[in-house]
Amino acid sequence: MRAMVLRAPGGPLRPEELPVPEPGSGEVLVRVRACGVCRTDLHVVDGELREPKLPLVVGHQIVGVVERVGEGVERFSPGDRVGVPWLGRTCGRCRYCRTGRENLCGEARFTGYQLDGGFAEYARADARFCLPVPEGYPDLQAAPLLCAGLIGYRALRMAGDAERLGLYGFGASAHIILQVARHQGRRVFAFTRDGDEEAQRFARRLGAEWAGGSGQRPPEELDAAIIFAPVGALVPLALRAVARGGTVVCAGIHMSDIPSFPYELLWGERQLRSVANLTRRDGEEFLALAPEVPVRTEVRPYPLEGANQALDDLRSGRLTGAAVLVVGR
Ligand SMILES: [Zn+2]
Ligand SMILES: [Zn+2]
Repeated sequence: MRAMVLRAPGGPLRPEELPVPEPGSGEVLVRVRACGVCRTDLHVVDGELREPKLPLVVGHQIVGVVERVGEGVERFSPGDRVGVPWLGRTCGRCRYCRTGRENLCGEARFTGYQLDGGFAEYARADARFCLPVPEGYPDLQAAPLLCAGLIGYRALRMAGDAERLGLYGFGASAHIILQVARHQGRRVFAFTRDGDEEAQRFARRLGAEWAGGSGQRPPEELDAAIIFAPVGALVPLALRAVARGGTVVCAGIHMSDIPSFPYELLWGERQLRSVANLTRRDGEEFLALAPEVPVRTEVRPYPLEGANQALDDLRSGRLTGAAVLVVGR
């Protein structure tokens, strides 16, 4: 099969021919049709997430069709369309797994990081962690739901019932979560890189009531903010923008160091927290909600061999919406 392979952190990915993987017991072999490109892929390729499996096929927003099933798989049959997300496997026995917090399992294995992912024509996955893809979505439009959408959704839940919601970093996740937040009747304030007027227009078009640079103060206090950009300097800015009792949620898996800030910014029962990974329940809930909103994803397609270009465009902020690799049919 054709695959884009990471041989050493620092990249780039190299096009290679690999054997089609064999589905083991409890696994499915998925013929990949589309795979979304996520900022986490960039952190893996650039070496900011340590000790990936090597060589590695990255990519954890896989939409594909089950080609074969391994022993004991009853949940899916050949021909079923499935999504393969970031959470690839957990231990199922630890304190976290037993209390509905499998996203925190210490033995969890992640797709496109410790397990081969979807920048390839085939991927194998633990059938228990695959998700059903909502029918109304073509493959390309469905792919960004699988991480940008559902980890964004988990972050939105952590923001509680905030009415005035700030989104810092207006990429793939924010463009989806803005639509969900509007659907829930929230007011959205979007923060982009300073001067990125295209992203600000995009945010307003999707329903943001205000859009500006992250250095700007919003026209009124916020009840919560979600930081999607991997920039620690945004934390004090977001804390400054939220009202007393407000929450700032860091949604990314990696962030540059957070500069020190006066306690006064946290005082007043403001909360600062991170969101890690996803549970299968997040996936099921979000994928049921997306067609109700309905969430419409704006995607920029790239061929499989264009993976490095897609990562570059993401790194430099040249993207509006979500990058997706078109792999097969
Ligand atoms: Zn566990
Ligand atoms: Zn992701």
